Amino acid sequence: MSDETGPGTGGDLFSKFDDIIALREGLLASGQEDPFSLVMEKVLSPTRAICNGRETILLGTYNYMGMTFDPDVVDAGKQALEDFGTGTTGSRVLNGTYQGHKECEDALREFYDMDHAMVFSTGYLANLGIISTIAGKGDYIILDIDSHASIWDGCAMGNAEVVPFKHNDIEAMEKRLKRVPEGAGKLVILEGVYSMLGDLAPLKEMVAIAKKYGAMVLVDEAHSMGFIGENGRGVVEAEGVLDDVDFIIGTFSKSVGTVGGFCVSNHPKFEIMRLVCRPYVFTASLPPSVVATAATSIRKLQHAGNKRGHLWENSKRLHKGLTDLGFQLGTAECQSAIVAVIMPDLEKGAALWEALLKEGLYVNLARPPATPANMTLLRCSLCAEHSDEEVGTILGMFERAGKATGII
Ligand code: PMP
Repeated sequence: MSDETGPGTGGDLFSKFDDIIALREGLLASGQEDPFSLVMEKVLSPTRAICNGRETILLGTYNYMGMTFDPDVVDAGKQALEDFGTGTTGSRVLNGTYQGHKECEDALREFYDMDHAMVFSTGYLANLGIISTIAGKGDYIILDIDSHASIWDGCAMGNAEVVPFKHNDIEAMEKRLKRVPEGAGKLVILEGVYSMLGDLAPLKEMVAIAKKYGAMVLVDEAHSMGFIGENGRGVVEAEGVLDDVDFIIGTFSKSVGTVGGFCVSNHPKFEIMRLVCRPYVFTASLPPSVVATAATSIRKLQHAGNKRGHLWENSKRLHKGLTDLGFQLGTAECQSAIVAVIMPDLEKGAALWEALLKEGLYVNLARPPATPANMTLLRCSLCAEHSDEEVGTILGMFERAGKATGII
């Protein structure tokens, strides 16, 4: 096969994907619906869409706080579209900083009560940019082995020494920190909520240890912003360590309900990032409608205590209901709005995923490399806009589909 690609190519560069191509073809050959190419034909609300011609309850989005159809948020986006046009057509450091980008950064500074906020075009770019810019050659990054891909990619881009430790293992983290050579720059990277199993980091202990060894600390709060902590500032707030962390990374693609990423910090020199951080400088800034929806949503999330309460109720009820039905879950107790159902293998996972879709329920099928320990998961993420009745309906769907596929 490699000889057929022409002279001088040195073989088919796609041959490295043969295993995943075979795995996918094998799965689809059994008549299984493709879990990775579902199309939402119409979106009716934060919790309902038409998928494959059928009205479906959404239990696999990151729309935790249900802000995507909030009338104030939608109006802000429409107004910005009319007033400022469809896009900035430029970088933040040239023509791409509009009034709306500054207002969005003001909203973030207020939300976190921090001195500096920098908005990126996605959360992926925020991790890529901040990590690769602050930790370079000769510096050490100590990070949880289950960190998100954007964190790993930021580490690789910066060329620092990367030292992973076992997931959520406080002692292993300390051991790694102890071994860092005297005088080297140190960055500890943690996540508030780990998105595959929905478990929390023991931030109080870990942040204290990082500080003891003189390391800077970056916490990715993508899956907790808006929901966890009294004011929705994340696990750092719930654990009382907000003032001890150096950088919080977040995204607008989850609770905020649009797209974009950010970093907030109290570091006195933080603003220099705007000139030296390549994934901030060398890409176009977010469209004005997006930053307008983000700013409005963030301001509303500051006062969303009732929604946070309802999302906790939904999450705890689903966790308990699925446990009672006999499903194996990623955590013994409900810790976040993510409830991960552990599947014995990909085939069973895909079968239950399809059975649920036919019942009218969408969840995420997650598999390696996204998942830890080679697991296949059906990942459920709740929304503050799911009604009590919907949570009951979801449990009934899981019971029927679980029995039909022999999983319970
Ligand atoms: N960090 C974590 C922990 C995430 O789960 C994600 C997205 N799933 C990101 C960062 C990237 O966010 P975005 O979608 O804004 O690129």
